[in-house]
Amino acid sequence: MSLVKYKAKRNFNETTEPVAGNPSTGKHIFVVQRHHATQLHYDFRLEIDGVLKSWAVPKGPSLNPSDKRLAMQVEDHPYDYKDFQGTIPEGNYGAGTVYIWDKGTFELMNPGNKSFDKEALLELKEGDLKVVLKGKKLKGEFALVHMKGRGENAWLLIKHKDKYATDEYNSEDYTPKRVKDAGLRYKEAEKKAATNRTKH
Ligand code: MN
Repeated sequence: MSLVKYKAKRNFNETTEPVAGNPSTGKHIFVVQRHHATQLHYDFRLEIDGVLKSWAVPKGPSLNPSDKRLAMQVEDHPYDYKDFQGTIPEGNYGAGTVYIWDKGTFELMNPGNKSFDKEALLELKEGDLKVVLKGKKLKGEFALVHMKGRGENAWLLIKHKDKYATDEYNSEDYTPKRVKDAGLRYKEAEKKAATNRTKH
């Protein structure tokens, strides 16, 4: 586990994003953060081996098994990131608004006979991680499948057919209007600031 990349990208004098965090023992957590940055996306994070393994999902997670959502793996994030929401200030990496869209615990679909972390890391290495999510919005079985020949960071996030699967699903329908509005206001203010800078 390493947070070197995470720390290198950020200026902690400016952003209020967390620097570290130690997982509590026991259940492993997951979190999904709606991140309205340059491009709106949802960050999907799983606590594995003491850090949050992270993927950016441009279209957001889906409970529809037909939706194979592109999930770009990004740098590991510190455990404390699970509680982060608010604004990443302009000029900083990931500038925009962050909202905790869902949070809960997860298990491995196939626990195997190794420790949780070892088993999960092995599945990640093999490019086929199967989890059971216990969130408020996301429930049941999901797979993260590494895409071959699409660069090393491209994965698919896929809902398995189980009792939680649905037909149509759009994560934006489950985002409060005030959150969407705050994201748009931020973008508007950012645009205005940029225009003013070119004027002067
Ligand atoms: Mn993000």
